[in-house]
Amino acid sequence: MTNSPTATVRSEALGELLPPLSANQAAVESARCLMCYDAPCTHACPTHIDIPKFIKKISTGNLRGSARTILESNLIGATCARVCPVQELCEGACVLGAEHKPIAIGRLQRHAMDFAYGTGTEPFAGAKATGKRVAVIGAGPAGLSCAGELRKLGHGVTLFEKRELAGGLSTYGIIGLREPMEVALAEVAMIEKLGVKIETGKELGKDFPLGDLQTRFDAVFLSVGLGTTPGLGIPGEEHILDGLQYIEHSRVDASKLVVGRNVAVIGAGNTAIDCATIAKRLGALRVTMVYRRTENEMTAYPHEYEFIKREGVSFSFLTQPIRVDAQNGTVKSLQCVRMQLGSADASGRPAPLPIEGSEFFIPADQVVKAIGQEKPSLATRLRLETEKGFIQVNAAFETNLPGVYAGGDCIRARGAASTVMAAQDGKLAARAIHERLVARG
Ligand SMILES: Cc1cc2nc3c(=O)[nH]c(=O)nc-3n(C[C@H](O)[C@H](O)[C@H](O)COP(=O)(O)OP(=O)(O)OC[C@H]3O[C@@H](n4cnc5c(N)ncnc54)[C@H](O)[C@@H]3O)c2cc1C
Ligand code: SF4
Repeated sequence: MTNSPTATVRSEALGELLPPLSANQAAVESARCLMCYDAPCTHACPTHIDIPKFIKKISTGNLRGSARTILESNLIGATCARVCPVQELCEGACVLGAEHKPIAIGRLQRHAMDFAYGTGTEPFAGAKATGKRVAVIGAGPAGLSCAGELRKLGHGVTLFEKRELAGGLSTYGIIGLREPMEVALAEVAMIEKLGVKIETGKELGKDFPLGDLQTRFDAVFLSVGLGTTPGLGIPGEEHILDGLQYIEHSRVDASKLVVGRNVAVIGAGNTAIDCATIAKRLGALRVTMVYRRTENEMTAYPHEYEFIKREGVSFSFLTQPIRVDAQNGTVKSLQCVRMQLGSADASGRPAPLPIEGSEFFIPADQVVKAIGQEKPSLATRLRLETEKGFIQVNAAFETNLPGVYAGGDCIRARGAASTVMAAQDGKLAARAIHERLVARG
């Protein structure tokens, strides 16, 4: 038996998990909404989409108007409809959740946005040109949101992206089960249609310096996200695969991703769950998630934890990897030590402490690490002030360098990083930049 299924089987295994709603299902679901006054779902949405308004428009068959309502608050509404942890946000706040089922807000939002992109609807015309120019660095959710909002306000915007494709983690990092790459790229195309000039393959700090942008543009917005996966600092580390690259390969060309039969995934956050899902769905016989604390301290969302258990993935909690054992370049096992929890550490969670003499082996022919991302290195290279390694900004998203703003994951010193928070940062930063440019005249 082989564990290398065909390309078709592979892409189906990682195809979008939830099917789209049919027109009938959307009509029935939207009719259930109570259209609450001062709706709690809207308050719970970080971008404050007017949820009852867009649902009402679906119920009256006005899908174009519904998409417009969504985009007025959130230019990357198609991605958010798919990747947002709606259970924790809008759907978690829906008044119908207490006794019945909450409204399927995410799926209704996807219904409206799929219509908009499927029919080529152009919901916004560019405002009258102001003559001001803004450079946006990094074309992830924060950068796209900021660039699009600035264009809506009439400013000239150039978006510089170091990768070949724009979209940031929505393009390269989100598992296909949640969001197909085409959805992220359709949003990029819409931002371009708004009049944003996107230059890919252009990296700040390598291809051009910040000073250059400061002379050519009236303001700069940094939305560079975070860095690569940090090292574990253990012998045999060179045999460990990077979880972000594992996901990227599964998106860009799943047929080329080599998946082991016995895979150990180090970490217990959402990225680790995505890596474990890919391994399991692409043919691994056994997948074990290895985490040094317990399920109580896991950073993955509870619904993701439940999902991965249903996928048949095993867990080794209170386990710290200490070495990767390999022979002739082939991984044989992950050597680990048992841990116990001590008093709270700097993160506020109980510190994991090794139990002497408790070493053991987890059989594995592939080891993947998904233990978070490095802080934005650009911050120190540009001599920006930082907080816990993240770029520090004031209430108007401005860094210590006048006219240089930042938002998205690169400023997220507190709270969980998410696509919708990045989109909101971009929108609010665009408004702050606009106020400054208008005030300056
Ligand atoms: C594996 C994974 C799964 C996730 N799943 C979810 C999810 O399901 N739901 C959710 O809400 N959130 C999820 N997130 C988090 C979410 O993807 C991020 O919060 C969001 O993408 C942040 O947007 P951003 O624009 O700040 O950064 P990014 O999306 O990281 O974009 C930054 C962009 O800047 C570019 N860049 C960096 N440096 C430079 C430079 N010097 N010059 C030019 N360009 C540069 C990068 O190439 C990149 O395109 C996930 C994250 C990961 C890692
Ligand atoms: S809280 Fe629920 S029922 Fe009320 S407006 Fe929002 S989606 Fe509709």
